[in-house]
Amino acid sequence: MPYTIMHRPRITRRLHLELDENGGLVVVAPVHWSKRLITETLAHNMNRVEKFLAVSNNRHSKPLQYRAGEKHLYLGRAYRLVTHAARQNRVAVDDGTIHVWVTTPVPGKTRTVLQNWYRHEAGVVFQARLEEVSRRVPWTDTRRVLLQQRRMKRTWGNCSAGGLIKLNTHLVKAPVEIIDSVIAHELCHLEEMNHTAAFYNLLEQLNPNWKRNRACLRSKGAVYLRT
Ligand SMILES: [Zn+2]
Repeated sequence: MPYTIMHRPRITRRLHLELDENGGLVVVAPVHWSKRLITETLAHNMNRVEKFLAVSNNRHSKPLQYRAGEKHLYLGRAYRLVTHAARQNRVAVDDGTIHVWVTTPVPGKTRTVLQNWYRHEAGVVFQARLEEVSRRVPWTDTRRVLLQQRRMKRTWGNCSAGGLIKLNTHLVKAPVEIIDSVIAHELCHLEEMNHTAAFYNLLEQLNPNWKRNRACLRSKGAVYLRT
């Protein structure tokens, strides 16, 4: 799980956990602590770290305001929102900024334009990632896999016996590795329609990092789900 380390002279005895404005984990450590000691301490306290992330990200997940300067996520990166009045609605991202051109630059309209853009991007990204991940999945060779997206509140993806995979549109805010991880999970369901040991054996082969990816998604999920 990615995190930033900060040293503060006034912290003397143990680690403190904080969140940055995008819901990322910040580990505040005493000045004399080495990176190795910090990593080891975190590894020993993974349960606590996960609990901290789940609780604080839920608190952190207030609705988006769609005002200039606000951070919006796309493929794991945070972009600062800039709005422009224009004749046609349009969205573009460049280095650190997400530009929204909107006929009426008020938060409600900006929200609609941005959500349409996310839906469009999700369609393109999910299809490309499905093709990429499927290449490593022999049992998709003879099967037709259909992809759909929907904005969902509780699930990141699901899969029907008929080969229809539904992914949560909000997932396009997560890093590609996390998107691939959800796709790998659903592709394993084509072979094993359950969560038995056989299922996890398949998943382990396809995506050895699934546990770490799942922990990331659990901890940052509430931030991705903001609308
Ligand atoms: Zn499942």
